[in-house]
This record gives sequence, structure tokens and C-alpha cells, in this order.
Amino acid sequence: MSAYHPLSEQEAIELASEITEVFGPEARLTSREIGDGNLNLVFHIRDEHSGRSIIMKQALPYAKVVGESWPLTLDRARIESDALRIQYKLAPGLAPKVYDFKSELALTIMEDLSDHVIMRKGLMEGGRYPHFAEHISTFIANTLFFTSDLGMNQQEKKLQAGAFINPELCKITEDLIFDDPYTVSDNNDYEPAIEDAARALREDAELHLEVALLREKFLTQGQALLHGDLHTGSIFVTPESTKVIDPEFAYYGPMGFDIGALFANLLMNYCGQAYWIKEDDARSEYRSYLLSTMRDVWNLFEAKFRTHWDSSCVDRMAASTPGYQDHYMRRLLQDSIGYAGCKMVRRIVGLSHVADINSISDSAIREQAQRQALAIGTALIKLNRTASSIEQAVDIAAGTS
Ligand code: ADP
Ligand code: MG
Ligand code: MG
Ligand code: MG
Repeated sequence: MSAYHPLSEQEAIELASEITEVFGPEARLTSREIGDGNLNLVFHIRDEHSGRSIIMKQALPYAKVVGESWPLTLDRARIESDALRIQYKLAPGLAPKVYDFKSELALTIMEDLSDHVIMRKGLMEGGRYPHFAEHISTFIANTLFFTSDLGMNQQEKKLQAGAFINPELCKITEDLIFDDPYTVSDNNDYEPAIEDAARALREDAELHLEVALLREKFLTQGQALLHGDLHTGSIFVTPESTKVIDPEFAYYGPMGFDIGALFANLLMNYCGQAYWIKEDDARSEYRSYLLSTMRDVWNLFEAKFRTHWDSSCVDRMAASTPGYQDHYMRRLLQDSIGYAGCKMVRRIVGLSHVADINSISDSAIREQAQRQALAIGTALIKLNRTASSIEQAVDIAAGTS
């Protein structure tokens, strides 16, 4: 079973039986492929005897995009399993445990989180996750701080960054997020009803400058090991627990890109609630919950990151230069706001949308939600370099309809 090939369910079972950490000799394993099939196979393997289970995720050598195949490196499976291991260590309990990685098969064998729900789905159903902000702020504060020059020896950090060179997946981000939405591109995908809004994106020189600056930072700033795809579809939740999966886009980049992904996805759910919650009071209450969550994520992140800095900074200059920490945190907030805006815009006019908005069946409400997301997204992008408080981002969202 050595040369790469997509696994059959029977082969997946044979490999799973080697995971003695989970399955005993009397295990009776069954397999079910549960991935959505765009980039990766995901096998759920269960022992009918003990009830214990694992997940095996295998990268495919291509992505299926609108009917076509797009070659995509299998090396992303190595990146994903290595990133998961680092995240599991730095943020205990907040990422799945990796049991094994089979490089030749681009296969990660990990903890089964099927007792959780994908957060995007949970939010579309009006779920509340009272510990989410606490958990995810720990995840981002720990993974970002302790992989940066603040929390890690600078030579080791450079070597680690070298192990996470991820050019093909970065290129997807560079094109789909920072380029296509602002020009005429075959990759773009939006409904004719919002053509005027899409055209406005293409003609807005002030917006283009801000996006170019954010893109430059994405291309050049190896600040920390990012998750790289931290949307609500990459987060499993229950009311008590949070687990982050799917870091195949991991690379050394600007910290605000991960934080911005979280903001953007909370805000797109906020827009989609025009449809999901019919009753006015309940909807505005839920929207307040989403905005409070965004605010809490930032405030808790900031407090935890500053605490790490005060107690664990390995960089003498950073630790002892008055004003530097405040300046750094201000820039992180600004980047997070800017990247949040970019992520919102791309999910409306670019390739690959979010179900929170796209699966709204009423076309008038869907269009309104799309316009609202574009209004918030562009306002956040324009705010980014002058932002001084998370409340400015909250106010932008709250002021739209
Ligand atoms: P992709 O990179 O193809 O998006 P994901 O890692 O997001 O792959 O996994 C796709 C889906 O497979 C998830 O939405 C989830 O339903 C399921 N899945 C992935 N990892 C796990 C896991 N550790 N436990 C349970 N289900 C998982
Ligand atoms: Mg997927
Ligand atoms: Mg995914
Ligand atoms: Mg993925």
C-alpha cells in the first residue's frame, strides 16, 4: 500500500487497525467516507465492538472546482498534520490529536470529533457557544504568540517557517481573496442581481490600495504560523468544547489573517440571519450575541497575548522597549479588521461562498444579505489602517441592514 493512490474503504480499515492506541485486537471496523469530496477524502472508521472511532483524512492530488480539476500538491497533508501537532501542543484540547501520518499516502489519522458540530452549521441553526470566545482566543493567542519571534527563538522560528513553505495553497489565497474580486476574472462567481455592487468593487481605487497593502503583508510578513483557513467551517463546537481542524493552508504569515477569518465568518452569519431567524426580536438578540462574540474574541485574545508577552517573551528588545507592545497590538487589530473585510468580499463575489448566505432560498433576502456583507466588508477594509478599537468594527456591522 505504499505508492500514493486514493484509499478504498477496505484499505482505510486495514490501516486503521494499526492504530492500537484506539483499537484493540478484537476490533470490528467499519468505514464511511464523510468528506465533501472537493479536496480531500475523509473516512470515519468505527469499531463496532468498542464503539471507538477515528478519522482518516487523505489529500487528493487535485481540487474539484466548478466541474474542473485543478492540480494541488499532496504536500499540504504533511503541512496539515504538522500544523495540527503544533496546535495540539500549544493549545491543549483545542485541536484534534493526531495518531499517525502516512506521508506516502498523504494521510492524517486523527481523533474523531463527530460528537461536535461544524460551527457554521451550528450558527445557522441559532446555536450558542458560551465558551467559544474563551477557547478560540486561547487557540489564536497561544498558536500565534509561541510560533512568532516573540515567543520562540528567532533561529528556530526561521527553520520552522522553512518547514511550512506552502506556495500552492498561498497562491489560492493570493488570487481568490486579494485579486479576483477586484477585477474581471473567470474565478469570480456572483449572481447577476448584484452586478452593480461587483462593478463598484472593481472601480474603487481607495479600496484597491488597501487590498494591495493587505495582500503585500500576506505575501511578505512571516509573523507567525497561521492556521490559514480559520473560518467557521474549520471549527467544531459543542456548548462546552471547541476544536479547530483543517490547517492545510498553514504557513508563516500575518497574524491578523487568522483573527480576521473569524471576524468575517461571524459577520457573514450576522448578515445571513436576515433569513434564518424570522422573528425580529429573536434575530436582533442573536445578532447582538454574534457581535459580542466578535468583541469578546478580540478582547480576550488581546489580554492573553499581552500576558504571554509580559511573562514569556524571548525577545529582549520586544520585552523592554516602551510603547512597542501597544503599537504591535494596534497593528494586529488593524490587520484583523482589514483581513476580515477581504474575506467577506471574496465570499460574496469570488469563488467559494458560505452557506450562511448562499443557501438562503429566498432570492430577495439572499441578495440583501450579500449586499450587507459587501457593505460591511468594504467598510472594514477602508477602516483597517486607522482602526483603534474593536468597537469600530462592531459599530460598522451594527449600522448596516
Ligand atoms: P477539507 O480540507 O476537505 O475542507 P476538513 O478537514 O474540513 O476537509 O474535513 C471535511 C469534513 O470532514 C468536516 O467538515 C467534517 O464533517 C469531517 N471531519 C474532518 N475532520 C474530522 C474529525 N477530526 N472528526 C470528525 N469529522 C471530521
Ligand atoms: Mg470542504
Ligand atoms: Mg474544511
Ligand atoms: Mg481544507
